[in-house]
Amino acid sequence: MFEQVRCNLCGADDTLPVMEIDGFHIVRCRRCGLLYVNPRYGEELLQGIYTEEYYDHDGIVDGLQFFGYDDYLADEDNIKITFAKRLRTIERHVDRGRLLDIGCATGFFLDLARSEGWEVVGTEVSSFGVRHARQALGLDVRLGTLKEMQFDSGMFDAVTMWDVIEHVVDPMGELKEVHRVLRDGGLLSLITPDAGSLVARVLGSRWEEFRRVREHIYFFSRCTMREMLHKVGFQVLGVGSADKVFYLGPAMHRLKYYTWDGMITNAAANLVYKLGLDKVRININPFTKMAVYARKRG
Ligand SMILES: [Zn+2]
Repeated sequence: MFEQVRCNLCGADDTLPVMEIDGFHIVRCRRCGLLYVNPRYGEELLQGIYTEEYYDHDGIVDGLQFFGYDDYLADEDNIKITFAKRLRTIERHVDRGRLLDIGCATGFFLDLARSEGWEVVGTEVSSFGVRHARQALGLDVRLGTLKEMQFDSGMFDAVTMWDVIEHVVDPMGELKEVHRVLRDGGLLSLITPDAGSLVARVLGSRWEEFRRVREHIYFFSRCTMREMLHKVGFQVLGVGSADKVFYLGPAMHRLKYYTWDGMITNAAANLVYKLGLDKVRININPFTKMAVYARKRG
């Protein structure tokens, strides 16, 4: 069930223990600084966690708890507001053409990009996500990993990966494949938790992204992310931080992952609902996620 892995960025097997969460060890490569979970669950088990439950509450798979999303479908409007902003940024760097969204979940981003004139394709390992994207939205979404798709080289103008790379068993191999399917000058946009952020460093093992240690198996800093993209053949155009639109109610509920005293946060969340403020939209940027834009070097 568990497997030992070497550093995905530099290939070394030389680490320092950083923290232990629920019996899992997050280690730091002594040569390049990459943080990763070692040992970790095997690939098969990791792919089996993205079920319908994953998108609806804290998923339990084979008796093991994963975090997942509280209620992804109900949050569609907010997710699309967030995605619209990201699409505008992408369009500043590349002309509309063919776009691939890796780990597209239920297809919300593809739906939006299509309505803006992009030709879109998605990949997703969750059959729940694929079903929703195909049936409810009529999208071309394929079940499986990027490598399984065997897309033609250079066929995409843009590739997006929102909150995906930290889940992938071989991120460098994945980015090499992204590089192959992009045309020369094509754009990669990815978002991943920023393990070098102030919040991550202050909260340490209480940081939600670290606590998702069963599904998040790599933790990048801006430095290790740049290094990996550079190795694969990308020119990094910019690294910023990703913001996100939430309803106040669910946002308050998520606070419980960040605080010591659940009673206080529960009371505050209940008050928000009682005052009818739960559907108030707020834009949060805790500077805990990096948004990276990179171009394939020709
Ligand atoms: Zn390393």
